[in-house]
Amino acid sequence: MNVHDSEKVVGTLIQEGYRQVESVEQADLILYNTCSIRDKAEQKVFHRLADYKKLQAQGKKFGVLGCVAQQEGEKIFERAPHVSLVCGSASYQNLPGMLVQLEGTASGVRRPASDSLDLEAEAGKSGSLAPVAWRPLSESRQPEAGSLIRITGLDDRQTDKCFETEYTARTNPHRAYITIIEGCDKFCAYCVVPFTRGKERSRTSASVLNEARQIADLGYSEIQLLGQNVNSYRDPDGTKSFAELLAAVGEVPGIRRVRFTTSHPRDFGRDIVDAIDAVPTLCDHVHLPVQSGSTRVLDAMQRLYTREQYLERINWMKSAKRQISITTDVIVGFPGETEADFAETLSLLDEVGFDGVFSFKYSARPNTPALQLEDAIPEEEKSRRLEVLMAKQRDIQIARYKQYIGTICEVMVEAKNEARAQWVGRTTQNKTLNFTATESVAPAIGKYAQVLVTKSFPNSIAGELIPAESVV
Ligand code: SAM
Ligand code: SF4
Repeated sequence: MNVHDSEKVVGTLIQEGYRQVESVEQADLILYNTCSIRDKAEQKVFHRLADYKKLQAQGKKFGVLGCVAQQEGEKIFERAPHVSLVCGSASYQNLPGMLVQLEGTASGVRRPASDSLDLEAEAGKSGSLAPVAWRPLSESRQPEAGSLIRITGLDDRQTDKCFETEYTARTNPHRAYITIIEGCDKFCAYCVVPFTRGKERSRTSASVLNEARQIADLGYSEIQLLGQNVNSYRDPDGTKSFAELLAAVGEVPGIRRVRFTTSHPRDFGRDIVDAIDAVPTLCDHVHLPVQSGSTRVLDAMQRLYTREQYLERINWMKSAKRQISITTDVIVGFPGETEADFAETLSLLDEVGFDGVFSFKYSARPNTPALQLEDAIPEEEKSRRLEVLMAKQRDIQIARYKQYIGTICEVMVEAKNEARAQWVGRTTQNKTLNFTATESVAPAIGKYAQVLVTKSFPNSIAGELIPAESVV
């Protein structure tokens, strides 16, 4: 999501007359898009900002965007006095105005095209302005010499607008991202997102479909629908459910693959599986974060589903006509997680047979209810559980990925690995499939090809192009 947010911010800035440059050294304005989901990511931001300080003497300006901006707000000015702008994601629609303020130009005056920016992403509508703190500087907040102004765009869960822009600077030439829902109202006990990304708000299905058609007209064949909880989508026009929107995007002429992430188990209905079965362009992959296999821990996490309810959703997918690949997220070491709870998570991995698991050690986050919980798990124990979990999942994947040997998979060709003389493809199940081909029938990047799988590894499969049936 952060990557796509960056694409939208870059597009907006280019429209405002800025030019994107390759390096921080070349830039006049450096915007740093940040993630605060875990403490480590946040610490990295402050280290990087400290590195930037030495560039201040060259007259460069700095802005912090994203979740750390929203979470830390004006405290960023104290820790990093060379920063001039702090803007959370719920206020991005106000960026053009903030930039005018930052540059000290009169409202509406565009910067010349020679001005440059560098935008880094840590992990990416115009419309009427939402409530936002536009603060003239108070005496106590006077910036250091060289930093002219301090501007904050901090929404604090007020906005009910999405950041829609027609100026997205798409960086992936083959897969286009569309945000359909922003923010989150679920308030899981460990998670900072509801505080950093504002309240849950969906775009109209008409607007999403319009963007999907534009994307297809630009020549993209793959679309990924995005949201913190993409399946909590509620059409403001009341026209389409999430499953109906998914199917409608899949039916846009020219679109060959549609992915969506992330799905929340609580809002995961059988109609999503039915849509995957009915619409061939919908990919055979669902990312459904479980977080824990223990109902007791799920309750403490305020996930509002049980292990059994999660497994019921898995069974819907397993009984689909198509073979749906399932991946998940797991947190180990949540406060109070006992050895028995952890064993339940391990047994869930066996029971489901995930094709991929993103696993994290619990990280205490500001403002979250879990901060009040007792029985913190020591860091070494969290690390131990993480290692045990990763080793188990590796074994599961080795066994699962072996099953593909001898099958033919369609891939979208994403790149060529020159060093290995291999092409990199992605299957509908979101697996990396590296393959060889003779130069005369080499597939073009962005096209689709049929590949015979001959080998498997813990995180990928490998094979050979079938030239006769390729390349389309
Ligand atoms: N909305 C999605 C859901 O509910 O499953 C997850 C989105 S969250 C940005 C991505 C993942 O980060 C979560 O699934 C969770 O595993 C992990 N995560 C979030 N907060 C965390 C924390 N405080 N410590 C460790 N991992 C965390
Ligand atoms: Fe965070 Fe929970 Fe919202 Fe996911 S559903 S973004 S984990 S609060």
